[in-house]
Amino acid sequence: MSLDSATGTIALDQRIALVSAAAAATTAGLSPGRSGNVSVRDGDLLAISPTNADLAALDPDALSIVALDGRHLDGPRPSKEVFLHIALYERDTEMRSIVHVHSPHAVAASCREPWADHCALPPVTPYFLMKVGQVPLIPFYAPGDVRQADEVRRSPWRFRGALLANHGQITAGQNPDAALHAAIEVEEAARTWLLQPDDRYRLLTEDQIVELTQRYGMPWRERVSEAPSA
Ligand SMILES: [Zn+2]
Repeated sequence: MSLDSATGTIALDQRIALVSAAAAATTAGLSPGRSGNVSVRDGDLLAISPTNADLAALDPDALSIVALDGRHLDGPRPSKEVFLHIALYERDTEMRSIVHVHSPHAVAASCREPWADHCALPPVTPYFLMKVGQVPLIPFYAPGDVRQADEVRRSPWRFRGALLANHGQITAGQNPDAALHAAIEVEEAARTWLLQPDDRYRLLTEDQIVELTQRYGMPWRERVSEAPSA
């Protein structure tokens, strides 16, 4: 497949949306150094940021083009964390974009024991429930280790965002802007949690949480087998 025919199957406007979401992630402080990677899916292909790329300066015409089965088809070498993206696209076929970042507060929260099995962060404020819902903690593997992708595949919880233990966060959305804003909300929820001086903080009630997550269509205490079929 030539570069033109490969990139041609992922529309330019989607690649531009991805590049601008990646730049916004760095402006928001979510991507220290050159960490993090982003992708957009179209059919059986994805465009993902190249390995060691600066998310502030991606080129929509120089993204890595990868098939959903993991084959690198064209463009520069993809991020070594591409298999994490593929696993998440396979889990939720409605998702069209993924943002993975090592944002500082999400990383700090990912080093703590999870608040609960279904959600690593406590439900302190409504915003991340409205944009993400539950964020389970995915067990640690070294970045790029395909076993990390297997852990994403086998998580029993339905999710649009997750913390990767001692590593960072990953979020999905129906477009790059939605995935980015989910990542921002995960970072803010983690920051709010870490700002609590002790464990005597007030959580939203279960009724409040269910009302919010149902109104915005986000998962809460929902297992994969309970999710509506895609
Ligand atoms: Zn990473």
